[in-house]
Amino acid sequence: MKSMLITGANRGVGLGMIRAVLNLPKENVPGNIVAVCRKPDQAKELNELADQNKNIHILQLESKEFDKYETFAAQVGEVLKDNGLDLLINNAGIAGSFRRIGLIKSGELMETYVVNTIAPIMLTKALLPLLKQAAEKNVGAAPGVPRATIVNISSILASMKLNGDGGHYSYRCSKAALNAATVSMKVDLKDTGICAVALHPGWIKTQMGGPKAPLEVDKACSRIIKTVFGITDQHNGGFYDLDGKNLPW
Ligand code: NDP
Repeated sequence: MKSMLITGANRGVGLGMIRAVLNLPKENVPGNIVAVCRKPDQAKELNELADQNKNIHILQLESKEFDKYETFAAQVGEVLKDNGLDLLINNAGIAGSFRRIGLIKSGELMETYVVNTIAPIMLTKALLPLLKQAAEKNVGAAPGVPRATIVNISSILASMKLNGDGGHYSYRCSKAALNAATVSMKVDLKDTGICAVALHPGWIKTQMGGPKAPLEVDKACSRIIKTVFGITDQHNGGFYDLDGKNLPW
């Protein structure tokens, strides 16, 4: 794989995935890793990684600023030259609150939907020409990661079948909608060789996951990256956990 792009790369799962990729055998590390965050000047750990690894390119994007996406995509294109983008990981997200039905607020529902659903869809749209460019360059390779792939970082809380606890309206609905979008991406892109999957990263000790989460960032992210790098067309349009196990919608 020549190139990948991860949003929310300054901390948590995003930063962990970048570290996990850098720990892969040298021949598997992409030549260009575009690490996206909204405040690069405050992204201390990411900047340290970029200082040590010249294949990391930090770009700025606030997910909610949709009017900047076109310019952003042009910046990504400049970094990747004419190779296109092999792997897009839509990772940036927000949790919303647990709130039960009597306390939920419309503003929170909308904010979470904007960041967790609309932003990954619109970013995929903006970067589609680069994904298609990669899929064409990699023609002959098997569909999936060898060709070009979109990974939407979802959550097990999106699963309607596994929802026994209720609440979490903003988060559950936004991620379930992202899952729906993943299936539409699979259908819309079926002739391009680009695959799309939704992936639950596990309950991980990050700012979002909290200190009680059972999974450490580094170990969980190695498992996520192993799964992501193994995506083939058999996974296309599916919903998986960090080890590639199928999850119910
Ligand atoms: P964190 O809260 O630790 O990190 C969230 C990341 O998203 C940060 O980089 C943050 O940037 C970025 N982000 C949030 N809002 C915006 C925005 N408006 N524009 C740009 N970037 C934004 O979360 P995790 O790392 O734990 O989560 C990563 C993904 O994994 C999310 O999609 C989450 O839903 C999912 N997930 C996580 C689980 C867990 O247990 N941790 C479980 C299931 C799913 P900034 O630093 O600037 O705020």
